[in-house]
Amino acid sequence: MTEPVLETKGICKSFGALRASRDISLDLRPGEIHAIIGPNGAGKSTLIGQICGTLKPDAGAVHLRGKDVTHDAARMRARAGLGRTFQISSLAMEDTVLQNALLGALGAAGKPWRFWKDVLSDKALRDVAEQALVRVGLQDHARHRTAELSHGQRRQLEVAVALTQRPKALVMDEPMAGMGPEGSKRLTGFLDTLRQEAPILLVEHDMDAVFSLADRISVLVYGEVIATGTVDEIRANDAVREAYLGDEA
Ligand code: ADP
Ligand code: MG
Repeated sequence: MTEPVLETKGICKSFGALRASRDISLDLRPGEIHAIIGPNGAGKSTLIGQICGTLKPDAGAVHLRGKDVTHDAARMRARAGLGRTFQISSLAMEDTVLQNALLGALGAAGKPWRFWKDVLSDKALRDVAEQALVRVGLQDHARHRTAELSHGQRRQLEVAVALTQRPKALVMDEPMAGMGPEGSKRLTGFLDTLRQEAPILLVEHDMDAVFSLADRISVLVYGEVIATGTVDEIRANDAVREAYLGDEA
């Protein structure tokens, strides 16, 4: 079997008496979309925080491309190829769409902040930023203020910002949240094409998207992975139906 791109090994995390991650071991393999599903409060965002380095596990390890990154800061993990989109938007709303993409490209290049005038005239950075906008279909909005974008377009922009970093693996926390059916469909189609370039660990409540995209699904309940399997295996799993899917299976 090929080596996983991303792996968690026995991750544990408590907030006081609440055990938000209980011995979580899972991996992300080249070319795959691995979906994480589960009810609100199950610990999905907490898991992602530990994978990306914004939260520290109490125990366990995170490996990225074969290297132990458990003690590396989020910024270092990003440089090592871990791309991320957030459940709550991290975009600069007053800046333009292009400026947000440029900020991603600037961070990825490891260049210090300069004046917008210099950043905007840096051809290499601009190419990276503009290509990312083309890929998510936002090229015609490059000069618009980010605040003017629809909710769905902002989520697309977050994906573009992640792409400017040329990630080797992507971690996405509910990218379809708040999108209409059209937006979800478009993003689903795009993620489908993205997996070959960067496998995706996808936290998502939109079950149409999950069932159509996921090569594997892990189900998180009360901080614990209760099942991992293919779409068919998860849909047929009694414990999963009881804990989460119900009629959706
Ligand atoms: P999900 O993303 O699956 O909805 P979260 O990971 O956000 O779940 O939260 C898991 C549990 O941990 C919830 O009960 C939540 O209230 C709690 N929690 C999350 N972050 C913190 C924190 N920083 N301090 C205390 N409790 C937290
Ligand atoms: Mg969450």
